[in-house]
Amino acid sequence: MITVEEALKRVFEIISPIGTEFVQLHNAGGRVLAQPAIAKRDQPPFAAASMDGYAIRADDANSGTVLKIIGEAAAGHRHEGNVAPGECVRIFTGAPVPIGANKVVIQEDVIRDGDIITLGDSIELKTNIRPKGCDFKIGDLLDAPRILTSADVALLAAMNIPNIQVSRRPDVALVSTGDELVMPGDVPGPDQIIASNTFGLKTLLDKIGAAPRILPIAKDSHESLAAAFELASCADLIVTIGGASVGDHDLVGEAASRSGMQRTFYKVAMRPGKPLMAGRMGNAPMLGLPGNPVSAMVCGHVFLVPAILAMMGLQKSPAQRKFANLEVDMGIGGPREHYMRAIVRAGKIMPESDQDSSLLSVLANSNALLIRPAGDRQRIKGEIMEYIEI
Ligand code: AMP
Ligand code: MG
Repeated sequence: MITVEEALKRVFEIISPIGTEFVQLHNAGGRVLAQPAIAKRDQPPFAAASMDGYAIRADDANSGTVLKIIGEAAAGHRHEGNVAPGECVRIFTGAPVPIGANKVVIQEDVIRDGDIITLGDSIELKTNIRPKGCDFKIGDLLDAPRILTSADVALLAAMNIPNIQVSRRPDVALVSTGDELVMPGDVPGPDQIIASNTFGLKTLLDKIGAAPRILPIAKDSHESLAAAFELASCADLIVTIGGASVGDHDLVGEAASRSGMQRTFYKVAMRPGKPLMAGRMGNAPMLGLPGNPVSAMVCGHVFLVPAILAMMGLQKSPAQRKFANLEVDMGIGGPREHYMRAIVRAGKIMPESDQDSSLLSVLANSNALLIRPAGDRQRIKGEIMEYIEI
Protein backbone atom coordinates (compact mmCIF):
# COMPACT_ATOMS: atom_id res chain seq x y z
CA MET A 1 0.00 0.00 0.00
CA ILE A 2 1.29 3.48 -0.83
CA THR A 3 0.80 6.68 1.14
CA VAL A 4 -1.73 9.35 0.22
CA GLU A 5 1.13 11.65 -0.75
CA GLU A 6 2.66 9.05 -3.08
CA ALA A 7 -0.74 8.19 -4.55
CA LEU A 8 -1.50 11.83 -5.32
CA LYS A 9 1.94 12.19 -6.92
CA ARG A 10 1.14 9.24 -9.17
CA VAL A 11 -2.29 10.65 -10.03
CA PHE A 12 -0.57 13.88 -11.09
CA GLU A 13 1.78 11.81 -13.28
CA ILE A 14 -1.08 10.34 -15.30
CA ILE A 15 -2.87 13.62 -15.96
CA SER A 16 -1.87 16.56 -18.11
CA PRO A 17 -3.39 19.97 -18.78
CA ILE A 18 -6.21 19.88 -21.29
CA GLY A 19 -6.75 22.47 -24.02
CA THR A 20 -8.18 25.97 -23.88
CA GLU A 21 -11.09 27.82 -25.43
CA PHE A 22 -12.33 31.40 -25.69
CA VAL A 23 -15.40 32.41 -23.70
CA GLN A 24 -17.37 35.60 -23.47
CA LEU A 25 -16.64 37.52 -20.32
CA HIS A 26 -20.11 37.07 -18.83
CA ASN A 27 -19.47 33.30 -18.79
CA ALA A 28 -15.95 33.54 -17.39
CA GLY A 29 -16.62 33.40 -13.62
CA GLY A 30 -15.06 30.32 -12.01
CA ARG A 31 -13.11 29.38 -15.13
CA VAL A 32 -9.31 29.12 -15.15
CA LEU A 33 -7.65 31.96 -17.02
CA ALA A 34 -5.18 30.30 -19.41
CA GLN A 35 -3.12 33.28 -20.60
CA PRO A 36 -2.35 36.56 -18.84
CA ALA A 37 -4.91 39.17 -19.83
CA ILE A 38 -3.51 42.51 -21.03
CA ALA A 39 -5.29 45.78 -20.22
CA LYS A 40 -6.30 47.60 -23.39
CA ARG A 41 -6.67 50.99 -21.71
CA ASP A 42 -5.85 53.14 -18.71
CA GLN A 43 -8.37 53.27 -15.91
CA PRO A 44 -9.45 55.90 -15.33
CA PRO A 45 -8.60 57.07 -18.85
CA PHE A 46 -8.35 60.69 -17.59
CA ALA A 47 -7.87 62.42 -14.25
CA ALA A 48 -11.33 62.07 -12.73
CA ALA A 49 -13.24 63.72 -9.90
CA SER A 50 -13.79 61.37 -6.96
CA MET A 51 -16.39 63.63 -5.31
CA ASP A 52 -19.18 66.01 -6.26
CA GLY A 53 -17.99 69.61 -5.92
CA TYR A 54 -16.05 72.28 -7.75
CA ALA A 55 -12.87 71.85 -9.81
CA ILE A 56 -10.45 74.66 -8.94
CA ARG A 57 -6.76 75.53 -9.13
CA ALA A 58 -5.00 74.40 -5.92
CA ASP A 59 -3.48 77.89 -5.63
CA ASP A 60 -6.99 79.23 -5.11
CA ALA A 61 -7.78 76.77 -2.30
CA ASN A 62 -7.91 79.28 0.55
CA SER A 63 -10.75 79.94 2.95
CA GLY A 64 -12.90 82.84 1.87
CA THR A 65 -11.70 82.83 -1.75
CA VAL A 66 -14.45 83.76 -4.19
CA LEU A 67 -14.53 81.89 -7.54
CA LYS A 68 -16.69 82.21 -10.62
CA ILE A 69 -18.41 79.10 -12.01
CA ILE A 70 -17.62 78.95 -15.75
CA GLY A 71 -19.20 75.60 -16.64
CA GLU A 72 -20.06 72.06 -15.66
CA ALA A 73 -18.39 68.65 -15.97
CA ALA A 74 -20.45 65.50 -15.38
CA ALA A 75 -19.60 61.81 -15.84
CA GLY A 76 -19.50 61.25 -19.59
CA HIS A 77 -19.50 65.00 -20.34
CA ARG A 78 -16.25 66.92 -19.95
CA HIS A 79 -15.94 70.69 -19.70
CA GLU A 80 -13.90 71.74 -22.72
CA GLY A 81 -12.42 75.02 -21.48
CA ASN A 82 -9.54 75.94 -19.13
CA VAL A 83 -9.92 76.82 -15.50
CA ALA A 84 -8.06 80.08 -14.94
CA PRO A 85 -7.20 81.67 -11.55
CA GLY A 86 -10.39 82.91 -9.90
CA GLU A 87 -12.52 80.40 -11.84
CA CYS A 88 -14.02 77.01 -11.10
CA VAL A 89 -16.13 74.32 -12.82
CA ARG A 90 -19.07 72.57 -11.21
CA ILE A 91 -18.02 68.90 -11.27
CA PHE A 92 -19.55 65.51 -10.44
CA THR A 93 -18.00 62.16 -9.49
CA GLY A 94 -16.43 60.38 -12.47
CA ALA A 95 -16.17 63.49 -14.66
CA PRO A 96 -12.86 64.43 -16.30
CA VAL A 97 -11.12 67.21 -14.38
CA PRO A 98 -10.88 70.25 -16.69
CA ILE A 99 -7.50 71.56 -17.85
CA GLY A 100 -6.00 74.00 -15.35
CA ALA A 101 -7.83 72.53 -12.36
CA ASN A 102 -5.92 70.26 -9.99
CA LYS A 103 -8.23 70.05 -7.01
CA VAL A 104 -11.88 69.32 -6.34
CA VAL A 105 -13.43 71.09 -3.38
CA ILE A 106 -16.40 69.12 -2.12
CA GLN A 107 -19.73 70.87 -2.38
CA GLU A 108 -20.22 70.71 1.42
CA ASP A 109 -17.16 73.00 1.80
CA VAL A 110 -18.44 75.92 -0.29
CA ILE A 111 -21.23 78.46 -0.17
CA ARG A 112 -22.85 79.01 -3.53
CA ASP A 113 -24.67 82.09 -4.67
CA GLY A 114 -25.76 81.95 -8.32
CA ASP A 115 -22.60 81.42 -10.39
CA ILE A 116 -20.27 82.44 -7.56
CA ILE A 117 -18.85 80.22 -4.81
CA THR A 118 -17.03 81.16 -1.62
CA LEU A 119 -14.69 78.58 -0.14
CA GLY A 120 -15.48 77.65 3.46
CA ASP A 121 -13.21 77.56 6.54
CA SER A 122 -12.04 73.98 6.39
CA ILE A 123 -10.79 73.07 2.91
CA GLU A 124 -9.56 69.47 2.73
CA LEU A 125 -5.91 68.84 1.94
CA LYS A 126 -6.65 65.96 -0.43
CA THR A 127 -7.26 66.71 -4.08
CA ASN A 128 -10.33 64.46 -4.57
CA ILE A 129 -8.90 63.59 -7.99
CA ARG A 130 -8.15 60.07 -9.22
CA PRO A 131 -5.06 60.32 -11.44
CA LYS A 132 -5.25 58.86 -14.96
CA GLY A 133 -4.32 55.14 -14.83
CA CYS A 134 -4.32 54.95 -11.01
CA ASP A 135 -6.30 51.67 -11.09
CA PHE A 136 -4.42 50.09 -14.01
CA LYS A 137 -2.50 51.19 -17.06
CA ILE A 138 -2.60 49.99 -20.64
CA GLY A 139 -0.43 46.86 -20.86
CA ASP A 140 -0.92 45.88 -17.19
CA LEU A 141 -1.48 42.14 -16.73
CA LEU A 142 -3.92 39.95 -14.88
CA ASP A 143 -1.75 36.90 -14.23
CA ALA A 144 -2.63 33.35 -15.28
CA PRO A 145 -3.38 30.66 -14.36
CA ARG A 146 -6.01 31.67 -11.83
CA ILE A 147 -9.63 30.81 -11.07
CA LEU A 148 -11.53 33.90 -12.13
CA THR A 149 -13.38 35.48 -9.23
CA SER A 150 -16.18 38.00 -9.55
CA ALA A 151 -13.63 40.77 -8.93
CA ASP A 152 -11.35 39.38 -11.66
CA VAL A 153 -14.22 39.37 -14.15
CA ALA A 154 -15.11 42.97 -13.25
CA LEU A 155 -11.44 43.93 -13.72
CA LEU A 156 -11.31 42.22 -17.14
CA ALA A 157 -14.46 44.10 -18.15
CA ALA A 158 -12.90 47.40 -17.08
CA MET A 159 -9.79 46.45 -19.12
CA ASN A 160 -12.15 46.20 -22.14
CA ILE A 161 -11.47 42.49 -22.75
CA PRO A 162 -14.75 40.98 -23.98
CA ASN A 163 -13.47 37.43 -24.68
CA ILE A 164 -10.82 35.51 -22.79
CA GLN A 165 -8.88 32.29 -23.13
CA VAL A 166 -9.70 29.80 -20.39
CA SER A 167 -9.04 26.10 -19.84
CA ARG A 168 -11.63 23.80 -21.28
CA ARG A 169 -13.95 22.24 -18.74
CA PRO A 170 -12.65 18.69 -18.25
CA ASP A 171 -15.24 16.17 -19.39
CA VAL A 172 -15.44 13.76 -16.46
CA ALA A 173 -17.38 10.51 -16.90
CA LEU A 174 -18.83 9.31 -13.57
CA VAL A 175 -19.80 5.64 -13.53
CA SER A 176 -21.57 4.03 -10.57
CA THR A 177 -21.17 0.26 -10.48
CA GLY A 178 -23.31 -2.23 -8.62
CA ASP A 179 -26.34 -4.50 -9.13
CA GLU A 180 -27.90 -2.98 -6.03
CA LEU A 181 -28.03 0.57 -7.40
CA VAL A 182 -30.86 2.50 -9.01
CA MET A 183 -31.09 6.18 -9.88
CA PRO A 184 -32.85 8.69 -7.61
CA GLY A 185 -36.52 8.74 -8.59
CA ASP A 186 -36.53 5.10 -9.70
CA VAL A 187 -38.45 2.51 -7.70
CA PRO A 188 -35.85 0.40 -5.89
CA GLY A 189 -36.37 -3.34 -5.47
CA PRO A 190 -36.32 -4.76 -1.94
CA ASP A 191 -32.54 -5.32 -2.02
CA GLN A 192 -31.66 -2.12 -3.78
CA ILE A 193 -30.40 1.32 -2.73
CA ILE A 194 -30.14 4.62 -4.52
CA ALA A 195 -26.89 5.62 -6.25
CA SER A 196 -25.76 8.71 -4.38
CA ASN A 197 -22.03 8.97 -5.01
CA THR A 198 -22.22 10.14 -8.60
CA PHE A 199 -24.52 12.97 -7.50
CA GLY A 200 -22.23 14.08 -4.69
CA LEU A 201 -19.19 13.92 -6.92
CA LYS A 202 -20.90 15.74 -9.79
CA THR A 203 -21.78 18.58 -7.45
CA LEU A 204 -18.20 18.73 -6.15
CA LEU A 205 -16.84 18.86 -9.71
CA ASP A 206 -19.43 21.34 -10.99
CA LYS A 207 -18.28 23.68 -8.26
CA ILE A 208 -14.68 23.72 -9.49
CA GLY A 209 -15.60 24.30 -13.14
CA ALA A 210 -15.36 20.77 -14.54
CA ALA A 211 -18.02 19.27 -16.83
CA PRO A 212 -18.94 16.02 -15.09
CA ARG A 213 -21.59 13.74 -16.56
CA ILE A 214 -23.33 10.87 -14.84
CA LEU A 215 -23.31 7.75 -17.01
CA PRO A 216 -25.85 4.91 -16.70
CA ILE A 217 -25.20 2.63 -13.74
CA ALA A 218 -23.00 -0.36 -14.66
CA LYS A 219 -23.95 -3.81 -13.37
CA ASP A 220 -21.48 -6.09 -11.60
CA SER A 221 -20.65 -7.95 -14.81
CA HIS A 222 -17.80 -7.75 -17.26
CA GLU A 223 -20.18 -7.05 -20.16
CA SER A 224 -21.84 -4.12 -18.41
CA LEU A 225 -18.52 -2.66 -17.21
CA ALA A 226 -16.99 -3.01 -20.69
CA ALA A 227 -19.99 -1.13 -22.13
CA ALA A 228 -19.55 1.59 -19.50
CA PHE A 229 -15.85 1.98 -20.34
CA GLU A 230 -16.76 2.20 -24.02
CA LEU A 231 -19.27 4.97 -23.27
CA ALA A 232 -16.69 6.80 -21.14
CA SER A 233 -13.80 6.39 -23.54
CA CYS A 234 -13.93 9.90 -25.02
CA ALA A 235 -13.88 11.60 -21.61
CA ASP A 236 -10.91 13.59 -20.30
CA LEU A 237 -11.12 11.60 -17.06
CA ILE A 238 -12.97 8.38 -16.25
CA VAL A 239 -14.14 7.90 -12.67
CA THR A 240 -15.69 4.64 -11.51
CA ILE A 241 -17.32 4.20 -8.13
CA GLY A 242 -17.55 0.90 -6.29
CA GLY A 243 -16.51 -2.59 -7.21
CA ALA A 244 -12.92 -1.83 -6.31
CA SER A 245 -12.47 -4.05 -3.25
CA VAL A 246 -11.59 -7.72 -3.21
CA GLY A 247 -15.08 -9.26 -3.02
CA ASP A 248 -16.33 -11.77 -5.62
CA HIS A 249 -18.45 -9.03 -7.20
CA ASP A 250 -15.75 -6.36 -7.26
CA LEU A 251 -14.90 -6.55 -10.94
CA VAL A 252 -13.87 -2.99 -11.78
CA GLY A 253 -10.09 -3.57 -11.66
CA GLU A 254 -10.25 -6.71 -13.79
CA ALA A 255 -12.79 -5.22 -16.22
CA ALA A 256 -10.71 -2.05 -16.56
CA SER A 257 -7.60 -4.12 -17.36
CA ARG A 258 -9.56 -6.03 -20.00
CA SER A 259 -10.58 -2.65 -21.49
CA GLY A 260 -6.90 -1.68 -21.67
CA MET A 261 -6.30 0.12 -18.38
CA GLN A 262 -2.63 0.40 -17.37
CA ARG A 263 -2.73 0.49 -13.60
CA THR A 264 -0.57 3.00 -11.74
CA PHE A 265 -1.51 1.91 -8.25
CA TYR A 266 -4.13 0.05 -6.25
CA LYS A 267 -4.78 0.60 -2.54
CA VAL A 268 -3.78 3.62 -0.52
CA ALA A 269 -2.96 3.76 3.18
CA MET A 270 -5.88 5.97 4.04
CA ARG A 271 -9.11 5.70 5.95
CA PRO A 272 -11.65 5.77 4.46
CA GLY A 273 -10.69 5.16 0.82
CA LYS A 274 -8.24 2.27 0.91
CA PRO A 275 -9.38 0.47 -2.28
CA LEU A 276 -8.57 3.38 -4.59
CA MET A 277 -7.04 2.62 -7.98
CA ALA A 278 -5.63 4.77 -10.75
CA GLY A 279 -4.29 4.26 -14.22
CA ARG A 280 -4.64 5.19 -17.86
CA MET A 281 -7.21 3.75 -20.20
CA GLY A 282 -6.51 4.69 -23.81
CA ASN A 283 -5.98 8.44 -23.82
CA ALA A 284 -7.83 9.06 -20.57
CA PRO A 285 -6.67 8.85 -16.99
CA MET A 286 -8.91 6.72 -14.81
CA LEU A 287 -9.64 6.80 -11.09
CA GLY A 288 -11.47 3.92 -9.47
CA LEU A 289 -13.04 5.16 -6.25
CA PRO A 290 -14.37 2.96 -3.45
CA GLY A 291 -18.14 2.58 -3.29
CA ASN A 292 -18.87 3.50 0.30
CA PRO A 293 -20.42 6.94 0.01
CA VAL A 294 -18.14 8.72 2.47
CA SER A 295 -15.05 6.99 1.04
CA ALA A 296 -15.99 8.13 -2.46
CA MET A 297 -16.51 11.73 -1.35
CA VAL A 298 -13.29 11.80 0.71
CA CYS A 299 -11.36 10.50 -2.32
CA GLY A 300 -13.17 13.16 -4.34
CA HIS A 301 -11.75 15.89 -2.10
CA VAL A 302 -8.29 14.38 -1.67
CA PHE A 303 -7.59 13.11 -5.22
CA LEU A 304 -10.23 14.05 -7.75
CA VAL A 305 -10.44 17.79 -7.12
CA PRO A 306 -6.65 18.35 -7.11
CA ALA A 307 -6.35 16.22 -10.29
CA ILE A 308 -9.01 18.23 -12.11
CA LEU A 309 -7.59 21.58 -11.01
CA ALA A 310 -4.23 20.43 -12.44
CA MET A 311 -5.95 19.35 -15.68
CA MET A 312 -7.27 22.91 -15.92
CA GLY A 313 -3.71 24.22 -15.78
CA LEU A 314 -3.47 25.09 -12.09
CA GLN A 315 -0.60 23.99 -9.89
CA LYS A 316 -0.36 20.30 -9.01
CA SER A 317 -0.93 20.63 -5.30
CA PRO A 318 -2.86 18.75 -2.61
CA ALA A 319 -6.11 20.05 -1.11
CA GLN A 320 -5.34 23.04 1.07
CA ARG A 321 -4.83 22.16 4.72
CA LYS A 322 -5.95 24.47 7.50
CA PHE A 323 -5.43 24.39 11.25
CA ALA A 324 -7.76 24.28 14.24
CA ASN A 325 -7.63 23.43 17.93
CA LEU A 326 -8.89 20.00 18.84
CA GLU A 327 -11.96 20.06 21.09
CA VAL A 328 -11.56 16.57 22.59
CA ASP A 329 -8.85 14.11 23.58
CA MET A 330 -8.20 11.30 21.06
CA GLY A 331 -6.54 7.93 21.62
CA ILE A 332 -3.74 6.49 19.52
CA GLY A 333 -4.50 6.59 15.76
CA GLY A 334 -4.56 3.68 13.30
CA PRO A 335 -1.92 2.65 10.76
CA ARG A 336 -3.55 4.55 7.87
CA GLU A 337 -3.89 8.32 7.39
CA HIS A 338 -7.35 9.07 8.73
CA TYR A 339 -9.72 11.66 7.26
CA MET A 340 -12.24 12.12 10.05
CA ARG A 341 -15.56 13.81 9.49
CA ALA A 342 -15.58 16.84 11.77
CA ILE A 343 -17.11 20.19 12.52
CA VAL A 344 -14.96 23.32 12.59
CA ARG A 345 -16.36 26.31 14.38
CA ALA A 346 -14.51 29.44 15.50
CA GLY A 347 -11.08 27.86 15.09
CA LYS A 348 -11.99 24.69 17.00
CA ILE A 349 -12.47 21.23 15.51
CA MET A 350 -14.70 18.47 16.83
CA PRO A 351 -14.63 15.01 15.20
CA GLU A 352 -18.00 13.34 14.70
CA SER A 353 -18.60 10.44 17.08
CA ASP A 354 -19.50 7.89 14.35
CA GLN A 355 -16.88 7.59 11.62
CA ASP A 356 -18.47 4.73 9.64
CA SER A 357 -17.75 5.30 5.94
CA SER A 358 -21.34 4.62 4.87
CA LEU A 359 -22.89 7.51 6.79
CA LEU A 360 -23.81 10.31 4.42
CA SER A 361 -25.89 12.00 7.12
CA VAL A 362 -22.73 12.42 9.21
CA LEU A 363 -20.80 13.73 6.22
CA ALA A 364 -23.58 16.20 5.44
CA ASN A 365 -23.44 17.43 9.03
CA SER A 366 -19.66 18.02 8.79
CA ASN A 367 -17.72 20.86 7.25
CA ALA A 368 -14.21 19.47 7.60
CA LEU A 369 -12.03 16.39 7.28
CA LEU A 370 -9.76 16.25 10.31
CA ILE A 371 -6.50 14.62 9.26
CA ARG A 372 -4.69 12.20 11.55
CA PRO A 373 -1.33 11.05 10.20
CA ALA A 374 -0.70 7.30 9.94
CA GLY A 375 0.26 5.88 13.35
CA ASP A 376 -0.72 9.11 15.09
CA ARG A 377 0.09 9.48 18.78
CA GLN A 378 -2.47 10.29 21.45
CA ARG A 379 -3.88 13.78 21.11
CA ILE A 380 -5.14 16.02 23.84
CA LYS A 381 -7.78 18.72 23.76
CA GLY A 382 -6.36 22.04 22.56
CA GLU A 383 -3.69 20.60 20.25
CA ILE A 384 -3.50 22.06 16.78
CA MET A 385 -4.63 19.64 14.06
CA GLU A 386 -4.76 19.87 10.28
CA TYR A 387 -8.00 19.67 8.34
CA ILE A 388 -9.43 20.09 4.86
CA GLU A 389 -12.52 22.24 4.43
CA ILE A 390 -15.36 20.42 2.67
P1 AMP B 1 -18.37 -1.65 -3.30
O1 AMP B 1 -17.14 -0.80 -3.33
O2 AMP B 1 -18.96 -1.83 -4.66
O3 AMP B 1 -18.16 -2.91 -2.58
O4 AMP B 1 -19.45 -0.83 -2.49
C1 AMP B 1 -19.29 -0.55 -1.12
C2 AMP B 1 -20.59 -0.05 -0.55
O5 AMP B 1 -20.92 1.18 -1.18
C3 AMP B 1 -21.76 -0.96 -0.78
O6 AMP B 1 -22.58 -0.92 0.37
C4 AMP B 1 -22.47 -0.35 -1.98
O7 AMP B 1 -23.84 -0.65 -2.00
C5 AMP B 1 -22.22 1.11 -1.76
N1 AMP B 1 -22.17 1.86 -3.02
C6 AMP B 1 -21.44 1.54 -4.10
N2 AMP B 1 -21.61 2.44 -5.09
C7 AMP B 1 -22.49 3.33 -4.61
C8 AMP B 1 -23.08 4.52 -5.15
N3 AMP B 1 -22.79 4.95 -6.37
N4 AMP B 1 -23.93 5.21 -4.37
C9 AMP B 1 -24.23 4.77 -3.11
N5 AMP B 1 -23.69 3.69 -2.56
C10 AMP B 1 -22.85 2.97 -3.29
MG1 MG C 1 -20.29 -3.04 -5.51
